[in-house]
Amino acid sequence: MSHPAQQLPSIDRLTRGAEGRRLVELFGRTRVTAALKASIADARERLFEDEELTLSESTLLDSAERALSGQAKTLRSVLNLTGTVLHTNLGRAVLPKQALQAVLQVASGPSNLEFDLETGRRGDRDLELERLLQEITGAEAATVVNNNAAAVMLALNTLAHNRQVPVSRGELVEIGGSFRVPEIMAQSGCSLVEVGATNRTRLSDFEAAINEETALLMKVHTSNYQIQGFTESVTEKALSNLAHQYHLPFMTDLGSGTLVNLTRYNLPYEPTVQDALRSGADVVTFSGDKLLGGPQAGLIVGTRAAIDAIKKNPMKRALRVDKMTLAALTAVLKLYLTPEALIKDLPTLKDLSRPAVEIQKFGEALLPAAAAVMSDRFQADLVPTKSQIGSGALPIDVLPSWALAIKSSAELNADQDIVDFASKLRLGEPAIIGRIQDSQLLFDLRTLYDPAALLSALETVS
Ligand SMILES: *Cc1c(COP(=O)(O)O)cnc(C)c1O
Repeated sequence: MSHPAQQLPSIDRLTRGAEGRRLVELFGRTRVTAALKASIADARERLFEDEELTLSESTLLDSAERALSGQAKTLRSVLNLTGTVLHTNLGRAVLPKQALQAVLQVASGPSNLEFDLETGRRGDRDLELERLLQEITGAEAATVVNNNAAAVMLALNTLAHNRQVPVSRGELVEIGGSFRVPEIMAQSGCSLVEVGATNRTRLSDFEAAINEETALLMKVHTSNYQIQGFTESVTEKALSNLAHQYHLPFMTDLGSGTLVNLTRYNLPYEPTVQDALRSGADVVTFSGDKLLGGPQAGLIVGTRAAIDAIKKNPMKRALRVDKMTLAALTAVLKLYLTPEALIKDLPTLKDLSRPAVEIQKFGEALLPAAAAVMSDRFQADLVPTKSQIGSGALPIDVLPSWALAIKSSAELNADQDIVDFASKLRLGEPAIIGRIQDSQLLFDLRTLYDPAALLSALETVS
């Protein structure tokens, strides 16, 4: 017997069947041949890894059709039931409808992006955004770039090029693999001076590091981890006082940052931009699509002198945001002018502050419907779980929630059944993404309000 990888059907054979002929009709022979070639090659590779795999002709044709119809590509709709509300791989914050309307308006025709309607002259694209950030945070000035990584880089490049920046060894963070403080420093053209120890840094460590080469003092919010036990770090207030004593600016990278005190929504405390400014920060950087709940962007607020210098840096042009981002961000910031309406209007805060009892009630209504649509190969249950805020924010504090838990009724290969089930749901439209834990597929219901798509997928796939 030859290896199963050698028994795969030929392209010719696949395109002669009814299903193959339908694909040729729809997409043309050239594209179908190329797509089938790719799916056969992929199948061959998978069979060499696992001989037991059963790959039928229809599996090959299906995967070719997915590739041809663009379904296998990125940017398909996903139902995020992972329990991580701000999921970086799933696009972080979901925009409020006010932001969508604003994007539609500026995208569908010309706008006064950089045009002053009163004078008829060239205007500043950041003006409205700056006015809103001044009102919300009390900052003297503000600007915006492509993301927070860009904000940190631009601020450092402007204020500390060819000079030294002391940072605590406990704050040399890596965010999502590509943002590492030491590397961002190097790329910005400044030299990092590590101070203190991983678990303990004192004000005196910073003071000892200051010399005539020092450009500014910097604090980085340790978004995605916590150092526990025998620890000590320097507060923003103490660092900014020290910086100012030496006539240096003080910069803080809040990472997520937030414009409202989250404890008012029963969420764990996260440093606010206002707190950072009150502590005396001259430059504060934070993301647009983390807790703020807006589009991908990096916001910079601070003193007029610092922001003016940042805006004059030629790199600002390379890192600037486009009109659609600007429109969405401005619309989101306007919502912060009425904080009482925020949890109703802003999807991120609505999800994060959704009470566990409400999620439980929703789950109790969903459970019988889910059980009814599924075949008896699977069983559904409602179980308590914990959601996470995500995007590096507050990984330690988890939010109590409820999940629809699905397990296989089979006595053999139950784990494989659940893995296959999860994979089929991922390939559906919309793609439905949960997480597998203890042989069960969990769908955290915190981010689900309309169960129709989930129920229909469970019916199809089970
Ligand atoms: C997330 C984060 C960044 C990067 O922000 P992006 O908007 O993803 O570029 C930088 N610094 C800290 C502390 C962060 O948490």
